[in-house]
Amino acid sequence: MENFICVQCGVQFAATPEPPPHCPICEDERQFVRHTGQEWTTLKELQTGHHNCVEEEAPRLLGIGTEPEFAIGQRALLVQSQGGNLLWDCVTLLDDQTAAEINARGGIRAIAISHPHFYSGMVEWAECFDAQILLHAADREWVMCKSPRIQFWEGSTRSLWDGLTLINLGGHFEGGTVLHWPMGANGKGALLTGDIITVVQDRRYVSFLRSYPNLIPLGASAIGRIVERIEPFSFEQIYGGWWQANVHSDARAAVKRSAERYLWWISR
Ligand SMILES: [Zn+2]
Ligand SMILES: [Zn+2]
Repeated sequence: MENFICVQCGVQFAATPEPPPHCPICEDERQFVRHTGQEWTTLKELQTGHHNCVEEEAPRLLGIGTEPEFAIGQRALLVQSQGGNLLWDCVTLLDDQTAAEINARGGIRAIAISHPHFYSGMVEWAECFDAQILLHAADREWVMCKSPRIQFWEGSTRSLWDGLTLINLGGHFEGGTVLHWPMGANGKGALLTGDIITVVQDRRYVSFLRSYPNLIPLGASAIGRIVERIEPFSFEQIYGGWWQANVHSDARAAVKRSAERYLWWISR
């Protein structure tokens, strides 16, 4: 039995004797199957050709990304907080070196993930660090590796410890979630967003799509809901799903003007 990993999205599946026949996440209209067909790997195989790069994105915010780039290429973020560390989003690769780096910083109390594209090796990680996994219940069908460690939450917000709050914005995925970290940006607040709110090349702006590889837009009501749900939160910075995909200042205004620009162009 083996927990096979989809090479295109990096999601690890429940243990099976043979590779699964297909990957529902990649066959969904928001992703794609690689042109050469569905391929699978294993954690052991991944560990031989890849390693994780661990770097501070900001004080008490550690980035963890795989090199050479694997699957969707995101980097996870370890929010180091008094009441326990939260791993925001996740990557597939876990090895002894990565575990040692994280344990040296106090381990992981819980893992929270923005959306199914980043479910990656979450169960493997949760077991290694004896952590729980927090996922929005609206994306329950996309969990490919079930575990008693997964706790589904419902509604528009979920309060954690030290003021950390999960906010369900929907959009890209129904359960699409961002994390509000009030102690981030020197106490001015930061939002960790994956690609539920995507930091674009012009980092004064962000954007929102149903599918990034297939360029499927969102409608006005989805954009309206995102704006409305983050309205109560104050934040100066945004940390997106990839290295350097961050808005360093005035991020709250950046979301507002980006949403206005988006609504303008989809109404032409
Ligand atoms: Zn896949
Ligand atoms: Zn995505």
